[in-house]
Amino acid sequence: MNYRRCGNSGLKLPELSLGLWHNFGHVDNQDTAAEMITYSFDHGITHFDLANNYGPPPGSAEENFGKILKREMAQYRDEMIISSKAGYLMWPGPYGEWGSRKYVLASLDQSLKRMQLDYVDIFYSHRPDPETPLEETILALDIAVKQGKALYVGISNYTAEQTEAAIAIFNELKTPFIIHQPKYSMFERWSEDGLLDVLSNNGVGCIPFSPLAQGLLTEKYLKGIPEGSRASKEHGFLQKDQVTDERIGKVLKLQEIAQERDQSITQLAIAWLLRTDTVTSVLIGASSTRQIGENLGSLKNTSFSEEELTRIDAILG
Ligand code: NDP
Repeated sequence: MNYRRCGNSGLKLPELSLGLWHNFGHVDNQDTAAEMITYSFDHGITHFDLANNYGPPPGSAEENFGKILKREMAQYRDEMIISSKAGYLMWPGPYGEWGSRKYVLASLDQSLKRMQLDYVDIFYSHRPDPETPLEETILALDIAVKQGKALYVGISNYTAEQTEAAIAIFNELKTPFIIHQPKYSMFERWSEDGLLDVLSNNGVGCIPFSPLAQGLLTEKYLKGIPEGSRASKEHGFLQKDQVTDERIGKVLKLQEIAQERDQSITQLAIAWLLRTDTVTSVLIGASSTRQIGENLGSLKNTSFSEEELTRIDAILG
């Protein structure tokens, strides 16, 4: 495993990190979940990404992760980077979501309790709140660090402009703000229109989520929607109508380039995100250790020729 420095910070992250959004809730097989976590760690994936709402039901991924950690990995806490987030709906009433100081700090306490941890390594504002003043959300993250409940902080789903405004406040407070988590893949390239420049100019790391477009950028959907896949599940966030002929057509074309590079389409999609230094780590999801093993294979070749990049751009359109 290679470890990349996260922006200008002292923290290094593995080129591949594991997210627990799907497949770690109470609805999922706990043996498989534990296997995926220990397999990842054994292969140098030291970073595990959670959020208050991961499950289903919300909260259950943190609860299950906490149990696995305590049972099998407690002695490795100092070798792990564990993150969580607050922003999406967690409990009823006006204090159960978004970016108020009340919600953000209460949610972090709940996350720590569920995971049976004293602190998280990275705590994120999961999404910008159009109604709460940005200063309030940023100050809540800063307080989390001052309380010793988070070592570093990050933001997720903030636009380039919102990120610049947040950085100005973080700088004033001297908060250890080190990372942005955007949705970024071959099929979702909005962060290339300004956000990546803001991050790189300010020494902030980037950890793209849904790098495989939830499984679309793999071989999984080339012959329809297989049983047990995310698109087939009722509680999954990949809807059947997102599996379009147009996208599958692009995957088939990308596969030609992947084969020339001796990679699978999945490996090509991950390696492509790591082509720039601004990307610190790619945050994958998985439903089996086999998938994690294949995805680790991406790291063997993360450099691209200009010709390959031009061909990829032409396919993606
Ligand atoms: P991906 O795009 O990597 O999709 C993961 C899914 O792709 C897997 O569950 C699996 O689908 C399929 N897959 C993965 N590897 C392979 C393979 N080798 N072969 C075939 N299929 C494969 O990422 P996610 O959408 O899961 O997001 C990753 C993480 O990002 C999340 O766990 C979470 O931590 C974070 N995230 C953050 C968000 C935010 O707002 N900040 C929002 C969403 C995610 P299947 O289950 O069908 O086998």
